[in-house]
Parts: sequence; structure tokens; C-alpha cells
Amino acid sequence: MTLHWTPAARDGAARAGVLHTAHGTVETPVFMPVGTAGTVKAMTADAVRATGARMVLGNTYHLMLRPGAERVARLGGLHRFMDWHGPILTDSGGYQVMSLAGLRTMDEEGVTFRSHVDGAKHRLTPERSVEIQRLLGADVTMCFDECTPFPATEEQAATSMRLSMRWAARSRAAFQPREGHGLFGIVQGGVHPPLRAESVAALTAIGFEGYAVGGLAVGEGQAAMFATLDCTVPLMPQEAPRYLMGVGTPADILGAVWRGIDMFDCVIPTRSGRTGRAYTSRGVLNLRNARHAEDPSPLDPACGCPACARHSRAYLHHLIKAEEMLGPMLLTWHNIQYYQDLMRGIRDAICAGRLAEHAAALEAGWGSSPQAPAEEKDG
Ligand SMILES: [Zn+2]
Repeated sequence: MTLHWTPAARDGAARAGVLHTAHGTVETPVFMPVGTAGTVKAMTADAVRATGARMVLGNTYHLMLRPGAERVARLGGLHRFMDWHGPILTDSGGYQVMSLAGLRTMDEEGVTFRSHVDGAKHRLTPERSVEIQRLLGADVTMCFDECTPFPATEEQAATSMRLSMRWAARSRAAFQPREGHGLFGIVQGGVHPPLRAESVAALTAIGFEGYAVGGLAVGEGQAAMFATLDCTVPLMPQEAPRYLMGVGTPADILGAVWRGIDMFDCVIPTRSGRTGRAYTSRGVLNLRNARHAEDPSPLDPACGCPACARHSRAYLHHLIKAEEMLGPMLLTWHNIQYYQDLMRGIRDAICAGRLAEHAAALEAGWGSSPQAPAEEKDG
């Protein structure tokens, strides 16, 4: 059987379920830490697993440039290469080509670009992207698409979305079905409800093991993102997993789960950890802030990670100020732990039919605003 999802409970539009893959099952809603270049930055694979994470993301663009997909395949695939034996989702490379690559030209067939690493010329097409993801050994392969720039006119968003739908059909044709593996289509269409509806219809006509919402969290803001989900998610197949790409803050994730999303990935917990920012049950803390310099209390008394269980805010502040490597390591661990605990709590609440109460408690803890956690400034 190919990769599939089974429901476990519902609370309104929110869903708890189980994703069945070649590398085991994953309870949803799930947050996938981002393992950009074959590593979740500053974390060993064992540490990632210790947080409760069961599925990670790998980046096709980074891995195709360095060390190369064929090399990873010769070394036994990405699971073995990075010592991660749970499921892996790989993106298609499309987003990074747009955001990182040098000089690029796009045509109907694909994209030609120069590597940001060494300037070498590369080409990605739907067929090559799917082949790279197969060489890496991805449990979930993503269709190659164009991430529509924001802002875009409705006409630009329509042209871009329709190209992505033609590429989705080519990705489907190129994908070789394998036990426990699947291909996800990506809904595009910017913030325009008719285009989102057209995109969902095009993808469901092709048929995929899962459906992602792409092209959000690109600067449109949380209200526009939620509005787009409100008009898109109800059109998506009930029986398939739904993945919101590149999202987001804890408040973004909570709001999206509420609207029926099952899967998430984002660099926020790892990137923030490396810059001294910690997501906690009481909002976002900036460990660079001088007010933590002599604070013996734990980062988050509700957290059991090594940063919280064994160290003080004062020590974490010192590590960050002194630019010691352990600072980003401990804060990344904490942030991934916080996101995993967040997902666990949300899933338990859905199963118990009390997501509304749980959400209110989370938002009260994050601070005064229900939209986004309060954040400290540098100082
Ligand atoms: Zn912690």
C-alpha cells in the first residue's frame, strides 16, 4: 500500500490522525523539524528523536548541490546518511531555486539556475526533481512547483498556478509508486480564492497521496493566511493528509490545525534557537536580553528538555553572549522540544474534544495577543 493517512478524532474542522509510511507511523497533527542539508542544524539525530519528533524534512535544492543526490543514493540513501530512521519528507527544490539560486531562467519545461554554493549551472524539471527525491529515499515526495512571488497580481498568480498544475501532472507521471511512499500535490493560487479552488480541482483530478497548501507565509500576514485556508481547506479531500508548507509560529500552527491542517514544517524553531530566541509556554524570550544575566530560573518551567531541566536562564544568556556553540545547540533543542510538546498537547485536546479550551490556555500563556506570542526586543 502507498503512504496513507487514517483519521483518529475530530474537533470541529481540526483532525487527529495517523500517517502510515515506509519508515513507520506518525501521529498528526505533526511538526517536522527542517533538516536542510542532511541535518537539523545544531542537533544530532538522536537529540531530534528525543524531543518526540518522528518525521523530518530534507531540502532537495541543498542536497542536489552538495553532496549530490546520486552520491547520497550510493551511500545508502538519506535515512542512512543522516542516521534518521523515521519518515522523511523532501521538498521539490522549487522554493529554494526562487529564493537562493543565482541567475535563473524559467521556461515551460523547468528552471535553469546557478548554484549559490559554487556558481555551477544546474537544471530542475518536474521529472528531475522527482528523480532526486527518489534517489534521496524520501517517504513523501513533493511535486515540483513554482512558488508564486508575493505580492502578485491575480493574473500573475493565475499564470504561475497553472504552470504548477501542468508540472504537478508531470511530477505524477514521473513518480514511481513504492510501498509506503507517496507524492503530494501543492495547491497554489496566492491569496485569491477562485484560483485556490481551481488549483484544488486540478490536483484532485490528477490524484495524490496527500495535498499541501503552498505559497503562504511569504509576507501576506497571518490574517490573509487564515482567510486563504478558510476558503481552501474545506475543498481539499477529507481522506488525505493536508500539509501547510513553511508555517510557522506556534499561533500560526494552532490556527491552521483549527482549520483542518495536519502537517507543518518551519525553520522558525531552529533558526530562532541559533539567534538566541526561545519559544516558550509564556511567549518568546530573547536570551540576549541583559535581564536574564543573573536569573537562576529555568527557561521554561513547563519544559523537560536539557536546556530547561539542567540550566538557568543566566547560563543560557552567558553562552549566547559569549558565542559558545552550546548556546545555539541548547536553544535549538528547547525550541524543537517546545514545538513537539505543542503538537502533542494540541493532538490530545482534539482527541478529548476540548481544543477550544486548550487553545485559550495556550494563548493566555503566550501573552495578551491571541494572534502572536509577545516578543522581547534585544537589550
Ligand atoms: Zn526546554
